[in-house]
Amino acid sequence: MPPTNSPNNLKTTPLNIAIIGSGISGLLAARILRPQHNVTIYERHSHAVETGAAINIGPNGIVILDSVGFDRRRARTLTYNKAGAITTDTVIDYEREFGADWLFFHRSDLHNEPLRLATAPSAELGVEGVPTKVRFGAKAVGVDVEAGEVRLARGDVVRADLVVVNRQRAAADGIKSTLRESVLPCTPNSTPIPAGSSVFRFTLTRAQVHAALGHIPDKLDRTQPGCITTVLPSTPRSAGAAHSPRVWNVHRTPPLPSYINGRTVLIGDAAHAMPPHQGQGGTQAIEDAEPLRVCFGDHVTSGAVPALLRDFDRVRRPRASKIQVNNVQAKGRRSAAEIHRFLRFNWTFAGIWEEVRNLEMSQAGAVGGAAAGVEAAQRGVYRLWLIQVGW
Ligand SMILES: Cc1cc2nc3c(=O)[nH]c(=O)nc-3n(C[C@H](O)[C@H](O)[C@H](O)COP(=O)(O)OP(=O)(O)OC[C@H]3O[C@@H](n4cnc5c(N)ncnc54)[C@H](O)[C@@H]3O)c2cc1C
Repeated sequence: MPPTNSPNNLKTTPLNIAIIGSGISGLLAARILRPQHNVTIYERHSHAVETGAAINIGPNGIVILDSVGFDRRRARTLTYNKAGAITTDTVIDYEREFGADWLFFHRSDLHNEPLRLATAPSAELGVEGVPTKVRFGAKAVGVDVEAGEVRLARGDVVRADLVVVNRQRAAADGIKSTLRESVLPCTPNSTPIPAGSSVFRFTLTRAQVHAALGHIPDKLDRTQPGCITTVLPSTPRSAGAAHSPRVWNVHRTPPLPSYINGRTVLIGDAAHAMPPHQGQGGTQAIEDAEPLRVCFGDHVTSGAVPALLRDFDRVRRPRASKIQVNNVQAKGRRSAAEIHRFLRFNWTFAGIWEEVRNLEMSQAGAVGGAAAGVEAAQRGVYRLWLIQVGW
């Protein structure tokens, strides 16, 4: 029987958590945090919206989705089978080599299932706590990062113990993020810069494809479960057939020196926007959920939030920054070996506790050798736990 002063007996009240933005990153964060805390999402749009078409999520993101009860059938996932054909079956080869599958989605499906995980009744999901509330039509226009106050465009101010900023996609807001600037004032080189390429984004009906190409390519065969992003042989003609083709100028943000300030943390593209060359922007947005789970579990007090965010930043930022840099390097490279090296780094993610150990070992090992590194890693994991229980 634990002693009466054991941390396990400490009674703490749930944190009030405000998440700005209902992108994949904000929704996953809400799902991770809702069992222990009261979570509210403030979304500027008047309803749930996710534009665009296909998106792929690497094994490093799928393993996290699997851990929170993500329903692949509801999300209508697609993948390749061993023969290279499109299927809804699981592909075990990726699981064996990388620990989880590599899956493709329609963007709205990848939005709707995390929205369900964030907001469904707790009994439906088999979790504790209360569902996340989503306030649509609630645009945030400012954050007091120390006080945890979010100012909304409609005039009210909400107060939270923790503010999570998941701002909109760069291309839609002219690249600037006033919210990010509130979190990181006076940070040089944090403004996105052109990455040197553009993407044409459009969808076509089968009739439009036929009109543009004179035939329907095999990949659009209706007997197949779906069509994964297809590069058609005459893209300009195809784009001309689309009703509203959009040109997306690819930008990149240099790795930021911090994701946090006071009670406020940046996640998703707000923290680590990157070009889509390796299909990691959304996958990294999903990865942000894991350190939130580790840092903000049971027994977290409001007073411990700034210290916990410092731990979040220390363990999360190195990996996300490295993937940002790899993305830029991958663009011009054609060597299969190099591409495989980056892909392996992205996809073989041993989990956030491994990051905690690596960080402590690299810091202590630099001054005290390997033994000191192992000891420091154990200390670091223990310290994280102590902060969690409010000591
Ligand atoms: C062409 C293209 C292809 C891509 N392909 C892939 C791929 O295959 N795989 C992959 O992993 N990634 C891919 N990405 C990257 C991926 O789409 C993004 O990294 C991901 O969608 C970012 O999610 P997020 O949750 O951070 O932000 P967002 O999806 O941008 O969500 C932010 C939310 O915040 C809301 N918001 C913004 N400002 C406010 C405010 N002031 N107040 C309240 N709410 C606000 C927005 O309305 C939005 O709902 C691709 C990107 C592009 C452009």
